[in-house]
Amino acid sequence: MTRRSVTGEADVVVVGAGIIGCSVAYRLSRSGRSVIVVDAGPCAGAGSTSASSAIVRFHYTLSDNVALAWDSYQAWTDWANEIGGTDPDGMVEYRTTGGILLGPPDEFDLMVTNLTALGIDHEVLSPAQIRTRFPAIDPSRFGPPARLDDPGFFRDGWGELYGLFTPDAGYINDPQLAAHNYQWAAQRHGAEFRYHSRVVDVATSDGHVEGVTLADGSDIHAPILVNAAGPASDQFNELAGVAHRHTIRSRPLRTETHVAPAPPEFSDSQATFVFDPDLGSAFRPEIGGLVHVSNIEPACDELVWVDDPWREDHLPTVEAFETQVLRVARRMPELPIPHRPSGLAALYDVTPDWNPILDRGAIDGLFLACGTSGNSFKTAPTIGHIIKSLIDRSPLGSDAATRERRPEATFTTPRTGSRIDLGHYSRNRKPGPATSVIA
Ligand SMILES: Cc1cc2nc3c(=O)[nH]c(=O)nc-3n(C[C@H](O)[C@H](O)[C@H](O)COP(=O)(O)OP(=O)(O)OC[C@H]3O[C@@H](n4cnc5c(N)ncnc54)[C@H](O)[C@@H]3O)c2cc1C
Repeated sequence: MTRRSVTGEADVVVVGAGIIGCSVAYRLSRSGRSVIVVDAGPCAGAGSTSASSAIVRFHYTLSDNVALAWDSYQAWTDWANEIGGTDPDGMVEYRTTGGILLGPPDEFDLMVTNLTALGIDHEVLSPAQIRTRFPAIDPSRFGPPARLDDPGFFRDGWGELYGLFTPDAGYINDPQLAAHNYQWAAQRHGAEFRYHSRVVDVATSDGHVEGVTLADGSDIHAPILVNAAGPASDQFNELAGVAHRHTIRSRPLRTETHVAPAPPEFSDSQATFVFDPDLGSAFRPEIGGLVHVSNIEPACDELVWVDDPWREDHLPTVEAFETQVLRVARRMPELPIPHRPSGLAALYDVTPDWNPILDRGAIDGLFLACGTSGNSFKTAPTIGHIIKSLIDRSPLGSDAATRERRPEATFTTPRTGSRIDLGHYSRNRKPGPATSVIA
């Protein structure tokens, strides 16, 4: 019989060193818990975090999402204070671009209410104001979104769109470095990070977490596990034997982002991040005089669900590249179109309502920070606080019936003092109405 070696013992094992796991590890280690972070990959943030567009925006219909984004924005814009110093390997920067959601003005009402309630600066721009402020952008109405082979793709504009503009929106210049910054901060509080360490089994006893087994056969003992496994999070819940007991599950979804040269007038203060449901795309200025292009799952595009998150293909396809870049070229007619695809493919970890799962799991000691649905890079700073708070509020040793109750319905954001209903992020919630990454 092979004897397994125990190579570690901690209060908490965090599975996954993406932006979420690193943020959680920082918060927990800073509060005095011993933490080991394990990741199958080579370094912090090498998973889906490295592919992130890293946009920080406040356009959400669910007010709790706005509050999470606004609270995290305070961390991104005060980064040295957030991580408690300066990482010698470099610090991420917040690039303020402003952000504009295009649409008919009556569709902004709920978002305007949310932004107003939190005191977030915003303005509804008329088509003429869009043309003046952002001359590269044509606010004509072309929608609904169409596929490239649909004759409707190149239809003439048939009306005009308004824009809900938030001047504080922006993006983080290097999402992978952001995870590394959190790792550095967590290590200063004693957290240990182990790479090339894939968890292949979860040890439980009588409904309680005992630890994990790694692919090399070694064990790490811990009474608390945090599932921050990104697109492999549902697979991890299966390892823990709990996936079928969670109403809300997540699935890996393939997505692509591309880059194109920026048109002449899309630079400096005349460039902004744009959410464009009319054409089904999103884009923002990119460092180096480029435009970074992504998609927002318009109904005409088939969703590409992936069974095995470990067999991911990172190459962009010609079809997605042409579709996404040409959609943006409709919105910015001067956009130069590259001759060949340039971009990448990556995975979202998508729940049925495109909101994350931030909750306790169905066994004692398991916590869930997953299902981030292509929109939770921005909220990682506050998610770290939420998971710490859930752990602090959940004494170990509770029985199954206690765990299924929802004792902690609210959370107060640490920087802006908003009260969040954690029920919206529960693993047993009734799914909300969102159908795309906009959530
Ligand atoms: C293309 C793209 C664009 C995006 N754009 C935005 C945006 O503009 N704004 C925004 O807010 N959000 C955006 N997102 C979403 C955001 O980037 C993600 O929500 C976030 O990065 C997820 O971080 P994570 O730590 O949960 O996952 P990941 O970064 O994927 O990290 C999970 C880690 O877990 C490890 N792991 C998994 N299973 C195991 C196991 N069994 N054992 C050991 N390790 C394991 C993996 O190796 C991986 O490193 C985007 C995402 C993508 C893919």
